[in-house]
Amino acid sequence: MEYGLICTICKSRYDSVFGSQICKKCHGILEVEYKASPKKVDIRASKSFWDFESVLPNGDYKHYIVGGTRLVRGESNDNVYMKIEPENPTRSFKDRGSVIEIAKALEYGYSEIVCASTGNMAYSLAYYSKIAGIKAKIFMGEGANQNKVAKIKSVGSASVHIINGDFTKAEDLAKSYAEKHDAFLTGDYCYREEGQKTISYEVMGQLPDVTHIIIPVGNATLISGMFKGLVEMVASGTITRMPRLIAVQASGSDSVVEAFRSGSNAIKYMKPKTKADAIAVGLPKFGLQTLDAINKTGGSAISVTDAEMERMQHKFYEEFGMVAELGGVASLAALEKMRLSKKDRAVAIISGANV
Ligand SMILES: [Zn+2]
Repeated sequence: MEYGLICTICKSRYDSVFGSQICKKCHGILEVEYKASPKKVDIRASKSFWDFESVLPNGDYKHYIVGGTRLVRGESNDNVYMKIEPENPTRSFKDRGSVIEIAKALEYGYSEIVCASTGNMAYSLAYYSKIAGIKAKIFMGEGANQNKVAKIKSVGSASVHIINGDFTKAEDLAKSYAEKHDAFLTGDYCYREEGQKTISYEVMGQLPDVTHIIIPVGNATLISGMFKGLVEMVASGTITRMPRLIAVQASGSDSVVEAFRSGSNAIKYMKPKTKADAIAVGLPKFGLQTLDAINKTGGSAISVTDAEMERMQHKFYEEFGMVAELGGVASLAALEKMRLSKKDRAVAIISGANV
């Protein structure tokens, strides 16, 4: 779809060839703004990620494999379904956003991308950078998961820098690297959000009567992207109602849950204390959008402990023979705390499995 970009802070507008995801006037985050109303999509008939090309920013994406993951019914509970995002090429939902970012980097003529990551996004970007023939510079916070660092390096396209500081500081370093070295700044920005909204299109096609979608929250582009997809589908007449969106965080890193519980409109930084590295983010970038998505769908926010996630990790392995990471099964741990009626149909997003 034809589009432009608009700054979320100062409302400056840029055309689609602008070549950055950051406003050059105020350094605010840009958002994709389509030139036409969203198109109705035949979600029931869709077979792959690229069936949703009509609702994505114009671009050359076709040679990348991504998405089209299965929705599987739980063995122990008929009301519960699982969206198996580890079926993506680098075993997490991050691939959906990475293909859009890497295609845009190529379109704008960059030979290098840079990002801050807790691991999965960097692995995903390194993988698609390799396919596209460009380099990737990765900044990771102290205490980065060494298994993930090894995976990223093994791709061969990326150099990894472990910094003294947390993820938020890594993001600042990635930003300044992009400015100094003319690299394309990738990460939790607008193009990624566009790719990630396709999970909503897939879920609504696979289970039209879904009532709840439970979503792990790190930087919160997954939930904000999924909400954007739902809003578009309602506007285009593709669906008539939205399921409730339930945000899940680790109890040692649950600033959005805290804000939701206290009815606050401000998200306060919290130093992450959890083994679930994929969702250990002190100040989620899309935290406010998450509160908005929860409120507008009648959803909620739930914290889960590391022990609860570990229990679900074992249960998921017993049922599916697949080892998901702790953040990847946070949604299943949250489900244990929810009271569903017999009519409810819940989808837990299993977001990643890089362990
Ligand atoms: Zn601006």
